[in-house]
Amino acid sequence: MKTVRMFSAALCAALMLCSAATAQEWKSGVDWQEPPLVTPGAEPGSAPSDAVILFDGSNLDAWENGENWLVEDGVAVPQKSAIVSRQHFGDMQLHLEWSAPTEIRGSGQGRGNSGCYLMNLYEIQILDSFENQTYFDGQAGSVYKQTPPMANAMRKPGEWNSYDIIFNAPVFRSNGDVQKPGFVTLIQNGVVMLNHFELLGPTSFVEAPHYKPHAEKGPISLQFHGDPVRFRNIWVRELKAPQGVRVSAPFNIQLKKPQAAQPEADEAAEKKDDSTAAVSEAKN
Ligand code: MG
Repeated sequence: MKTVRMFSAALCAALMLCSAATAQEWKSGVDWQEPPLVTPGAEPGSAPSDAVILFDGSNLDAWENGENWLVEDGVAVPQKSAIVSRQHFGDMQLHLEWSAPTEIRGSGQGRGNSGCYLMNLYEIQILDSFENQTYFDGQAGSVYKQTPPMANAMRKPGEWNSYDIIFNAPVFRSNGDVQKPGFVTLIQNGVVMLNHFELLGPTSFVEAPHYKPHAEKGPISLQFHGDPVRFRNIWVRELKAPQGVRVSAPFNIQLKKPQAAQPEADEAAEKKDDSTAAVSEAKN
């Protein structure tokens, strides 16, 4: 048995050596640009160096109708109307933190309701879903009336929830047809809620979702639904795909074989040395 194991190990080693000698590195043939440097935030959830800050606790100047909301003690609370970001975004990474009201009032959709609208069209639901039943495609982390989230990862009312959203905007052909639908991924408090969900169109309370062509970029809006949901730490990064130019078809590089002992070559070299010495001696 021991002999068989030793033989197997020797065979494996021989095969690995053989494979290393003949392996060919595959290259894509694409000349990629170096990815940009981004300094991460100091703490988990804090803004990276290239983020657009939409709310850092001081004011809502980055938002239209920001004056309608209460900003106090570093948090923003919905009042009177929705707020709409002045800057528009397409593909993006969005971070925001929110807390359901500490004082529990109402039930179902009437408890701690707000929402984060991507491009002012696609609502990711914000709702106090801590021990609060409602229709599943309307609870926190749902794409409103399109899909429930994959989990209920709510913290208690008064505690802070984080939303990290990755969004790919839909693309339309010039005739208005959908070339590529929108997609959204949501992580709440470190838990995946939406995994590259294909949006069916703008979210609506009364209409079946269906796409209507729109601009490549749009604002983010936060819903006013009458409840004092608190918000803090809102930032966004525009997403750009890595850039590269194809310079050739994919190919394999023939790797050099590792140097191995070559007795015949060594002998030839020795003979050459001898003959050189002989010539040398003759000259002398
Ligand atoms: Mg809502």
